[in-house]
Amino acid sequence: MSELFVRTLREAPADAEVPSHQWLVRAGYIRRAAPGIYSWLPLGLKVLRKVEAIVREEMEAIGAQEVSFPALLPKEPYEASNRWTDYGDSIFRLKDRKGGDYLLGPTHEEMFTLLVKDLYSSYKDLPLSLYQVQTKYRDEARPRAGILRGREFIMKDAYSFDVDDAGLQASYQRHREAYIRIFDRLGFEYVIVQATSGAMGGSASEEFLAVLANGEDTYVRSPGGYAANVEAVTVPVPEALPYDDAPAAHVEDTPDSTTITTLVEAANRLHPKAEGEWTAADTLKNVLFMITPPGGESEALAVGLPGDREVDAKRLEAQIGEEVAIEPFTDEDFARHPELIKGYIGPGVLGSESKTKIKYLVDPRVVTGTRWVTGADAEGQHVFDLVCGRDFTPDGTIEVAEVRAGDPAPDGSGPLELARGIEMGHIFQLGRTYAEALGLKVLDQNGKLVTVTMGSYGVGVSRAVAAVAEYSCDDKGLAWPRQLAPFDVQLVAAGKDAALLEKAQQVAQELADRGIEVLFDDRKASPGVKFADAEILGMPTTVVLGKRLADGMAEVRDRATGEAVDVAVDDLVEHVVAAVRG
Ligand code: ATP
Ligand code: MG
Repeated sequence: MSELFVRTLREAPADAEVPSHQWLVRAGYIRRAAPGIYSWLPLGLKVLRKVEAIVREEMEAIGAQEVSFPALLPKEPYEASNRWTDYGDSIFRLKDRKGGDYLLGPTHEEMFTLLVKDLYSSYKDLPLSLYQVQTKYRDEARPRAGILRGREFIMKDAYSFDVDDAGLQASYQRHREAYIRIFDRLGFEYVIVQATSGAMGGSASEEFLAVLANGEDTYVRSPGGYAANVEAVTVPVPEALPYDDAPAAHVEDTPDSTTITTLVEAANRLHPKAEGEWTAADTLKNVLFMITPPGGESEALAVGLPGDREVDAKRLEAQIGEEVAIEPFTDEDFARHPELIKGYIGPGVLGSESKTKIKYLVDPRVVTGTRWVTGADAEGQHVFDLVCGRDFTPDGTIEVAEVRAGDPAPDGSGPLELARGIEMGHIFQLGRTYAEALGLKVLDQNGKLVTVTMGSYGVGVSRAVAAVAEYSCDDKGLAWPRQLAPFDVQLVAAGKDAALLEKAQQVAQELADRGIEVLFDDRKASPGVKFADAEILGMPTTVVLGKRLADGMAEVRDRATGEAVDVAVDDLVEHVVAAVRG
């Protein structure tokens, strides 16, 4: 400890909102270099290397081969895949001295595709899995929580190459199983959920989420085993309803009813329902957005959904695309569309066939035959008994309504429960998107050129360090699981006399000789300072040699459980070796 490059800090950094971030900085594992950009100090680097080692072992075990690509990449491959534009503001673009365009790689599908295209040309070369553990760059809109969401971070990215769909299925399963082994070993609780594939395109995909209450992702699960990121949840589409007996739609006065609450109140007061009461679920709410794809033109979008549900911003983002700017309608936008009467917007002025030509997508629950109370496109008026499929026809459906606890799972497996987590890994079947864009073809058994089908598999390696820290830390500091701790044991010499230090030195050496990684606190600091630091630094076992050494006794503390046991000094090394080896 007297030589280790570490300083523990009394105060958490001002910008640290989550415990893992606070403790990793306070314990001297990482230091901020710029927003979302961190340096690794000796202790942090040891943890990072242990995570990497687990990831490498499991990737090698499925026959994936490690390569390493540069982070500084040419523009052209990313132009061919459209991601140079599609990534919008999220990539770091730069120019060389000759004015050539480059980027810092956010992920490497294009480069792997081209490498395999360069070297392979036959089905006999496949299947193939390649991976790297490499630094990625993304100019995240909201870098957060230290290394949990950085702008520079370390990812393990793997790619599989197969000649046909069955091959891709098998490769996907192999990687999935490797991921299960990786996450079982890392030491946090996780769930595997269905996911949307975002900017990657492609089809089937699953995420591995660390279960953490302050995670950014919301996921759902049902008693029958359905699990999905909330972004990927689909609404079970109800059957169309008969509407022969439905009265004709009628416009009614509903003064001062620009919100769902005031509308429901006015409807019940002025136009009572035949049976029961009007509720928010009887109303059709129309919400307007301005959508601007990277480098493209802004376009209005109207979303219709039952009035008792809000638009979920993350689900909307997942549907429209992460890099597309989505803004609610501003007063200027309304001014440009005089047909839209704020607070009274109805399907009458929406849809590609309407006057406004604004694209109109509705929640999947809005099926043919459903009847709605909705805006009449006139100040102070709503229309009642407006029947979908009779009185209006939306341009399509969109899955953006909030998902609520108790909603039915789409596969009929029961009511959904909501929880939060952080995405640690993402596996998906890319299919032929990249191979097609970049011309990766091989000759098949019949001598015919076929496009290769690919999978892509990511693990957030640096994020995993934060997730494990978040999962294991407490109010005293970090508390590493054994497999990731920088050292197995922190040995505290709690006292200053020469005999004590000499004995402690001897124990440290004996433990080291047995293959135990020991951090020996030999500083001339008070026992209190040393104990506090041992708690902050978080080695799983603390060995204390102090006053009771005179009676031949030492103390062994377990950082995670807080349990302390007295151990005879003569048995100490055996005891500690047994504790470490579990
Ligand atoms: P998120 O939804 O958290 O932004 P993503 O969908 O952008 O993640 P992928 O592109 O699938 O992530 O990247 C693979 C893995 O890399 C993720 O599962 C995550 O663990 C990690 N990762 C992604 N972005 C970051 C980041 N900004 N900082 C640290 N790790 C990240
Ligand atoms: Mg992201």
